[in-house]
Amino acid sequence: MTNIILLGPPGAGKGTQARRLVEERGLVQLSTGDMLREAKDSGTEMGKIVADVMARGDLVTDEIVIGLIEEKLDGEKVGGFIFDGFPRTLAQADALGALLARKGETLDAVIEMRVDDAALVDRISGRFTCGACGEVYHDTTKPTKIEGTCDECGSTDLKRRADDNAESLRQRLMEYYKKTSPLIGYYYHAGNLATVDGLAAIDDVAKSVAAVLDR
Ligand code: AMP
Repeated sequence: MTNIILLGPPGAGKGTQARRLVEERGLVQLSTGDMLREAKDSGTEMGKIVADVMARGDLVTDEIVIGLIEEKLDGEKVGGFIFDGFPRTLAQADALGALLARKGETLDAVIEMRVDDAALVDRISGRFTCGACGEVYHDTTKPTKIEGTCDECGSTDLKRRADDNAESLRQRLMEYYKKTSPLIGYYYHAGNLATVDGLAAIDDVAKSVAAVLDR
C-alpha cells in the first residue's frame, strides 16, 4: 500500500497532481477541502458550521477534519491514499500518524510542492473546475477547448470556488504559513520529505512526483 501526502499552499497544484495519481496508480484521493465543500453543499449540520470558516479562508477545527479522515480510513481496503490538503496542522499530522499506525499502515512519502506567492495569486484567481468530473482549468494557462464545456466529460457545470478571491486567499496563505508550513520541518525530521518544483509544467511536476514514488 502506498500512502502519500501532497503538501503545499493553496494553488500549488495538489489537486491536479492527486487526480493524475488516481488515474495512473489507482490510489484514492482524500481531499478534506472537497469533503468539506460537499458537506456545505448538501447542507448538513457540519456543513453549516464550516461554511463561514471556509469563506473567510480560516482553517476548520482539527476535530472535524480528523473525524472526516478517520471515517475514510476505516472504509474498504484500497491500494493507498493520497492526502490532499490534509494534514494542515501539527495536531492533524500527529493524528494521521496515529491512525495509520493503528491500521498497521505506513506513510510512504510527503511531497512538498514548492511555488512562490506571486504565482499562487495568479493561479487561484483564474481557476475553475468541472462540477461533474472535477477536472481543474485555468482562464489563461488551461482553458477548456470549447468555452463553457468540460473537455473531459462534456458537462457545462463549470464552477469557481467561493474562497478563490483575493481577500480569502490572503487569509488562506497566512494560515498556510502559520499553521501548515511547520509540517515541512516535521516531515523532514521524520525522514520522508521530498520537494518538487510546483512551478514547472503539469507534466513535468507529474514526472518529479513519479520519480519520488518510484525511488
Ligand atoms: P482546500 O480545498 O484544500 O483549499 O480547502 C478549502 C478550505 O477548507 C480551507 O481553506 C479550510 O477552510 C478548509 N480545510 C480543508 N482542509 C482542511 C484541513 N486539513 N484542516 C482545516 N481546514 C481545512
